[in-house]
Parts: sequence; structure tokens; C-alpha cells
Amino acid sequence: MSQFAHINTALIHGGISNDARTGAVNVPIYQTSTYQQDGLGKMRGYEYSRTGNPTREALEALIAELEEGYAGFAFASGMAAITAVLSLLHAGDKVLISSNVYGGTFRLLAQVFDHFSISYEIADTTDAVKYEAAISEDVKAVIIESPANPLMTVTDIRLIADISHKHDLLVIVDNTFMTPYLQKPLTLGADIVVHSATKYLGGHSDVVAGLAVVKDEKLAKQIAFIQNSTGGVLPPFDSFLLIRGIKTLGARMDRHVSNARQAAEFLQNHPAVKNVYYPGLTTDPGFAVNQQQAKNGGVMISFELHENYNIETFFESLKLIMLAESLGGVESLVCHPSTMTHASIPEDIRKQVGITDGLIRLSTGIEDIRDILDDLGQAIEQSEVK
Ligand SMILES: *Cc1c(COP(=O)(O)O)cnc(C)c1O
Repeated sequence: MSQFAHINTALIHGGISNDARTGAVNVPIYQTSTYQQDGLGKMRGYEYSRTGNPTREALEALIAELEEGYAGFAFASGMAAITAVLSLLHAGDKVLISSNVYGGTFRLLAQVFDHFSISYEIADTTDAVKYEAAISEDVKAVIIESPANPLMTVTDIRLIADISHKHDLLVIVDNTFMTPYLQKPLTLGADIVVHSATKYLGGHSDVVAGLAVVKDEKLAKQIAFIQNSTGGVLPPFDSFLLIRGIKTLGARMDRHVSNARQAAEFLQNHPAVKNVYYPGLTTDPGFAVNQQQAKNGGVMISFELHENYNIETFFESLKLIMLAESLGGVESLVCHPSTMTHASIPEDIRKQVGITDGLIRLSTGIEDIRDILDDLGQAIEQSEVK
């Protein structure tokens, strides 16, 4: 539970938001690896910065409060956070993943955890019957993304969590795309939330970071032990940057979402556009479920142009919107999932889950929407094969 009734206040004052000793309105960057002890076994709360650091701790308290969890943990990247969470599993265990899971999560399971005899299976988390049928004796966890990248597929988090708990599965939700400002998976029944804080939480494309939030003390003890044992912790300076980014999350997201909605409508009404994937559009198959579990459709949009448009020309014709991996920064970015973010997923699986070579993903920034739409419009026009 948050100390504040409204999240826009918690974003700024939540967790440990200032310095009790000096009154500094920001948490200092405790750039130290170790801490003096007053005598044998007499620590002042900290012993070594892998184990605990006051700047990181302030961030961890903040994200726990925002996600309404028991405890938060900060890692050197989203993948480090996901690695720590998956380290709860044992050899012989299997993980179910939703079909549009982040490419790096897929690669981690297929090519790293695979060495430790932890297996995975892609499951359709948008269909309760098919999902439950995929749960076998060895399945111990599920990783859900909603909306899932890049087709923005929506999963009913509460429904999948309920089914999963009947079978004693650990329910892990990657909430990177929504952030706690738009969706709080722990309140919908998830056990653990993970984030690539590199994206909206940081918000300025200047820090790589990951977060995990757990629902109870038992999981908190386990993740704290794994975090300290495996060591992929977020440094103090990056923790500071993330706290700073989170303060403006609400203001940024309101503008991001408003721009995204206008961009989605612009694309949907554009004759060159074949498909738009955005759960904020009432015509989107995920609209109703998304609306019941999230504040709105979020920011991420994918779309496909008709066959007589050349997407290479489209990308090269953009003047404002940058072609880059990643998302969630103040600047608008586009990417080509099949050769960029999702290239680590084998081609047959990409085809099976609908990630076509014509798919374009847009992370709408907070620039003036007129400039964003102008740029999209002129690049589409340039890319028409005459
Ligand atoms: C970027 C991303 C990750 C990986 O996070 P890093 O900070 O790049 O390690 C995981 N999940 C989702 C949904 C992402 O977008």
C-alpha cells in the first residue's frame, strides 16, 4: 500500500524521497562500496554496496510503493532483474511464456536457462482454455506481458493469475510497457512484477536498469538472497537517475498516451496502413480486457503498411522519429521488430506468432504531436512504390 492516496504524489514523495540527515530534498548518491563498522558485528545498517546501498534502497522502496508490493529490488538491467527472478526455479522446472514475450526473455530461456535444464513453452495467455491445457506437472511459473510486444496482445492478468494459482504456478508479469502509472499487476493477482526501467520509468533513454517487485515477505527474502548472491545490482548513480526519472512519470505518460492515441488514429485512418495494433483503439481485439485492468491503452503502437509501400524507404525517410532499438524515452523511436528487437526469436516462431517482416513498431515520444504526425505522413508518402 502507498502512503499516498494518489499515484502522482507517490511518484514524487514515495519510498524514501529525501535525506533525513541534511534535509536535502533529493536522495544523495552514496557512491561507496563499503561502510565503516563501529565494532565487530556493529553495522549502521549497511555493510557492502552489493548487499545494500542507501540510494538503491530509496529506489527499491519507491518502486515497491508504486506497484503496491512488499519489497522492490533494483538491477543493472531488465534482463538482470528477469534473470534473478527466474533463478527461483530449479532444474526440471518449466516456464510458460506468453507468445509475444520480449525477445531477450525468450533468448534467456532458450539459450541460457536451457543449460540448467529449465525449459520453456510458448502458451496462448489470451485464451484461458488453451492456457490451462498447457499447464503440465513440471510447469512452475508463467511470464506474462500485457500488452505484449510487438503485436500489443492483451492478456487478462487476473484470469491467468487465478488459473495459474490453482496449479501453484508463480505468476510473473513484465510491466515495462505500462508502468505502475497505468497498470498494477500485483493488485490483479501477480506474484512478481519485473521492469525494464530503461524504458518509461527512466524515461530519457539515458540509463539501463531493471526492477523487480514481489508481493510478500517470503519472495522478498528469496529475491534479496539471489540479488546479493548473483550481484547484478544497479549502481548508485543509475539509481539516482531512475528516481529522478520516476518523479515525472505521470506527466510524461499523460502526454505520451495522448500522443500515442492520436498517432494510432492517424495511422488507422491512413489509406496506406493495412493494420494498426494498439489496445487503446476501441476496434482492437484487446480493448475491453485492457480497459478493465489498465488506465488506458498505453503508448506502444505497431502497424503494417500495404504491400506497395517499401518499409526500408519508410525508415530512411523519417526526419524526426529515430530508428533505434528501445522505447519509452521522451523522443519518438521506431523499430523493425523482425530484424531488431525480436531477431533473437527463430523465424518460424516469429511467423507463427505474427511478427511479419512488414511490421513497424512506434514508441511515441512527447514531442509536439503535429510534428510526429507530419513526419509519419511524409515518410509513408515517400515510401510508396510507384
Ligand atoms: C527492454 C525490455 C526488457 C529488457 O530490459 P533491459 O533493460 O534492456 O535489459 C525486458 N522486457 C521488456 C518488455 C522490454 O521492453
